[in-house]
Amino acid sequence: MGFLFRGRKKVAKDSPETADAPGSRVLTRAEVPVKTAGPEGQPTPQRPRTLGELKASGYKPLSVREEMRRNLIALIKAKRPIFNGIIGYDNTVIPQVENAVLSGQNIIFLGERGQAKSRVMRLLTGLLDEAIPVVRGCEINDSPFSPICKACREKIAREGDAAEIDWLLRADRYGEKLATPDTTIADLIGDVDPIKVAEGRYLSDELTMHYGIIPRTNRGIFCINELPDLMERLQVGLFNLLEEADIQIKGYRVRLPLDIILVASANPEDYTSRGRIITPLKDRFGAQIRTHYPVTLKDEIAIVEQEWQVFENGDVDFFVPDYVKEVIAEITQLARKSPDVGQRSGVSVRVSIANMETVVANAIRRAIMLGEKLAVPRISDFPYIIASTTGKIEMEGFEDKNEQKLIDDLTRRAVLTVFNRYFQFDEFEPVVRQFNGGFTVETSENMNAKSYVRYIKEIPGLAKAVKKLTSAETPETLASVVEFILEGAHLNKRLNKTKAAGKTVYKR
Ligand SMILES: [Zn+2]
Repeated sequence: MGFLFRGRKKVAKDSPETADAPGSRVLTRAEVPVKTAGPEGQPTPQRPRTLGELKASGYKPLSVREEMRRNLIALIKAKRPIFNGIIGYDNTVIPQVENAVLSGQNIIFLGERGQAKSRVMRLLTGLLDEAIPVVRGCEINDSPFSPICKACREKIAREGDAAEIDWLLRADRYGEKLATPDTTIADLIGDVDPIKVAEGRYLSDELTMHYGIIPRTNRGIFCINELPDLMERLQVGLFNLLEEADIQIKGYRVRLPLDIILVASANPEDYTSRGRIITPLKDRFGAQIRTHYPVTLKDEIAIVEQEWQVFENGDVDFFVPDYVKEVIAEITQLARKSPDVGQRSGVSVRVSIANMETVVANAIRRAIMLGEKLAVPRISDFPYIIASTTGKIEMEGFEDKNEQKLIDDLTRRAVLTVFNRYFQFDEFEPVVRQFNGGFTVETSENMNAKSYVRYIKEIPGLAKAVKKLTSAETPETLASVVEFILEGAHLNKRLNKTKAAGKTVYKR
């Protein structure tokens, strides 16, 4: 599943503070594509420009629910994935989303941070038609067949088949809001203009209404993040809007029979804790879907590889050995089980992604400093992940705990686990024997790669152990492998290790 959204991907973050811009953008006539690819890739003729042309084209209006359902069924029949770039949800989250869409249900996603909730919600727009016709100039995307705002009702009555229409693209039919305690009814649903009220317009006249984000997402998908943070009064407003299509604003009744799919997200503990969500609103979510972190190391690594930010480095190339990726993923997975880490908000895959970026950055920094052409992360680069880990996990307990110690600890356990997946105890015994009699090996994040290579010749059995991890012969890769083996032997209590002045010395 895709967990982080940045750089190349151009999908917004999990906390979409920036995403509450009006969810609609209407195409002007100049923008309506003359030729456009239909869902199956064939070109479609120019889109109708008036209600009359629309009727003549045989267009059949559908509700959002019907539309998504129809498109989902087509995807299932064609055996095509509904969500691209979502890893690890094939047998858990995705079938439940499909059932919810087939049932026309509103959905709430429950999960800790960094479980691709926002991405999944945004990808639901892929189930919408490529474009739908709307009354030109309508703020709430009225259907030309059944407009709900007064201006459009009057326009259609006046102009009939000559009424002009625009085409609203699927990407513009998605509205999103991060619920905060200061979110208002005006933000979500709308406000009335007291001056116009004073002029004598009666308040059921929507002409005096300034629409909020939900009406502006009419005929689309509206998503509210962190629903439990919404004040109870607003939850009641939201419920009334969904249930009765009717809402009180500043004491006036406003009727808004919107056509909307409501999707929400919440932390599971917030959602289930008493009093945070009013029961009638809870009941409006037909589907409550639990998201989760990647179950396997393989999925965790696949997400990291999909999401991490890769830059061009001029003449420095980089290579990340598998065991480095595995250690990074293992650190995150161990953190998710650690009693020293607060599990309420979770440990996002972003920790893995940022740690990968950090160890690669340190390797690149070394390569540039030493004038090497290949950057390969080593075990001695891992202490730097404190910068990319600490802000993303919460320490458990109130006593002063040392974050550095926690991360060192997780790293050691991860290296040991990964190492012991590659090596049996007796496989590195010849290597260890070399250290009897005072032999030592010095390593450092700043040591050039070539100085490691001689150890492969000097230490019996090391070459064989190295071959198990890589067939590469570049000094930079060999240096990384040698460090991994020495650290593995140390963590298996076969070698001692001392650290001083930025150097690590392995000995017996
Ligand atoms: Zn309208």
